[in-house]
Amino acid sequence: MAVRLNEDQEMVKAIKEGLKRTGGYCPCRLERSEENKCICKEFREQIADPNYKGYCHCMLYYKD
Ligand code: SF4
Repeated sequence: MAVRLNEDQEMVKAIKEGLKRTGGYCPCRLERSEENKCICKEFREQIADPNYKGYCHCMLYYKD
């Protein structure tokens, strides 16, 4: 299992700017809740799931 950044650097830059703007909350979700603080609950669960392979919701990270 490995988690890495998206290979698309422009995408990474845009999402990181979004995170800066929101103060660390997921830029692709409306709700500012603890669950949506990066790394969000959804992706933490996907990381913990041995069968999950793919990007986080925002596509900042990739897990394989
Ligand atoms: S979807 Fe990705 S960028 Fe958005 S909070 Fe979750 S881990 Fe961070």
